[in-house]
Amino acid sequence: FLEGKRALVTGSTSGIGLAIARALAAEGAKVVLNGFGDEAEIAKLCEELGATHSGADLTDVAQVEAMMAEAGEIDILVNNAGMQHVSPVEDFPLDKWDKLVALNLSAVFHCTRLVVPGMKKKGWGRIINTASAHSKVASPFKSAYNATKHGVDGFTKTIALELAEFGVTANCISPGYVWTPLIEGQIPDTMKARGMTREQVINDVLLVKQATKKFVQPEEIGALAAFLCRDEAQNVNGANWSVDGGWTAE
Ligand code: NAD
Repeated sequence: FLEGKRALVTGSTSGIGLAIARALAAEGAKVVLNGFGDEAEIAKLCEELGATHSGADLTDVAQVEAMMAEAGEIDILVNNAGMQHVSPVEDFPLDKWDKLVALNLSAVFHCTRLVVPGMKKKGWGRIINTASAHSKVASPFKSAYNATKHGVDGFTKTIALELAEFGVTANCISPGYVWTPLIEGQIPDTMKARGMTREQVINDVLLVKQATKKFVQPEEIGALAAFLCRDEAQNVNGANWSVDGGWTAE
């Protein structure tokens, strides 16, 4: 049902973004991938999905602008690229704070402002932002991440209202813990910040709030993103969809 549509998925060389790109490509969308990684592996992915790739670093506005200009008209924008840093607030490295704000929040604004004119002109568009359970609730030592993800929620609601009459919807998907390199990468710092073993971090920190006691699979996020692109989802607008095993229900 996405034949003839063009989708740009940021941060789609890995994890959740890649699963979303796969789900959209499976429905016939022409996908532009974005993100870092091994060149040969990315070339293989492009071939497999019939996709193209931009290696733009989204923390750099000039690179975002160049990527969007090269991508041409986009019907579906998935703002998914994001990073984490775990640290007590008083020790939070300043460069990490700035980087998280640039990637997790400002890049969402820049990509959005650049696709909106084309979507408005066409009278159809989908903007899907990967937020997080941490766009609704907090946990300690993730001040930059939680601030930016709460910001993504507010930004999404705002553009949902601005674009509603133009056939364009904007929604967040808010996963709990999905087993991806982003999660694996934060385990050592969480061990340090909390004085815990790896096992304790997984069971007593990551899965403790996820009522299902299971990690979410990236494909589950891909399936929801594809649903939000359907015409049947035209009135799903400004929502923040939890896929967190019940974490934020508590
Ligand atoms: P990941 O680390 O597997 O993938 C991140 C992707 O972003 C990669 O493709 C990477 O190359 C790309 N990327 C990183 N820095 C970039 C930059 N400066 N410019 C462009 N691309 C860049 O992470 P993931 O777990 O798949 O996370 C994807 C999104 O989902 C993030 O926004 C994250 O905050 C969110 N999220 C993840 C989880 C989880 O449990 N994994 C939970 C909630 C929300």
